[in-house]
Amino acid sequence: MYRHIPVAAPSFVGNERAYVMDCLESTWISSNGPYIERFEESFAEFCNAKHALSCCNGTVALHLALLALGVAPGDEVIVPTLTYVATANAVTYCGARPVFVDSEPETGSLDPQLLERIITERTRGIVVVHLYGHPVDMDPVLDIARKHGLFVVEDAAEAHGAEYKGRRIGSIGDIATFSFYGNKILTTGEGGMVVTNHDHVAARVRQLKGQGMDLNRRYWFPMVGYNYRMTNIEAAIGLAQLERAEWHIARRRAIANHYASRLGAIPALVFPINRPWATNVYWMVSLVLNDDVAITRDCLMERLADAGIESRPFFYPMHIMPVYQHLVPDQSFPVAERLAARGINLPSSAALSESDVDYVCDQLLRIFRMSEGICGPCTVLS
Ligand SMILES: *Cc1c(COP(=O)(O)O)cnc(C)c1O
Repeated sequence: MYRHIPVAAPSFVGNERAYVMDCLESTWISSNGPYIERFEESFAEFCNAKHALSCCNGTVALHLALLALGVAPGDEVIVPTLTYVATANAVTYCGARPVFVDSEPETGSLDPQLLERIITERTRGIVVVHLYGHPVDMDPVLDIARKHGLFVVEDAAEAHGAEYKGRRIGSIGDIATFSFYGNKILTTGEGGMVVTNHDHVAARVRQLKGQGMDLNRRYWFPMVGYNYRMTNIEAAIGLAQLERAEWHIARRRAIANHYASRLGAIPALVFPINRPWATNVYWMVSLVLNDDVAITRDCLMERLADAGIESRPFFYPMHIMPVYQHLVPDQSFPVAERLAARGINLPSSAALSESDVDYVCDQLLRIFRMSEGICGPCTVLS
């Protein structure tokens, strides 16, 4: 029997269809309309934050956040090397320079102990990334930021609803940004959100995303802004997703627990650790291949693909990317490099059934049993 198990897929289990039809019937399909405000208000409440400002994607949310904080040419902004390219690109859009930092081995997120040694007089702030749904250890990051007068932006594109020490991600740093791309925990198709408790930051983001128009005088433009707005249709989908947020998050946590209970006994596979203070929302169920196993990650992915199972490698670190390599020609980031070579993300969407997850586990158990960890021709470690 042929099965296809996608690594990610959206689930529409709420009012998505009704709200989208309402947009069409009312003709409010562009970036004005009642769903924008409803989605923003509900999302701010969801994050326990004062302001949430919608925009057209998560990359743009980061760009708006950095612009609102005044990042300008010549500045340096610290970002983890193990992240999606958007985090570094947003810094580059501002004419600033991303300064990369290595990961901590157990969660893969940025290692706060490495921050102080890379701060210079040009450093303006730190962008942390709540990687694959597990929150960063914020307290040490905030302490260092306070000590050096730096801002902290949380790239929460992968962490809707995650908690740090019992607090929802969204208002712990100065700004948190979210993505609602189709494979994220909550989706609007394309979409993003900037969340903050600072009134002046919120006002600046609102102006910047609306072409720079004066907030109190229509068609009056005191600055060069952008058209970075979300549409009412996207917000309608987002509101429906948000109404069922607890369902989406509970599904992901249940799927992760299911994997862990079945695969925990394979010594070759290491589940990244959950810190005691973390509520992980598992954007991806990620695993890291042990150092002493003679199957390469890419070979494992191929074997899974043969069984109809999609998977994803961990992100390539930014410091080896053709666009960013020149910034750090002689530096190595050994922890991120190791994770990037050995990390794999399993199918993680809320839409997976118990039997889907069992099937993926059965296939993994089969691959490791058959080969006893040795994968046919490719016995070279990656
Ligand atoms: C998805 C993602 C983004 C960008 O979001 P888009 O909506 O695709 O622009 C930014 N940062 C991280 C860490 C992401 O995973």
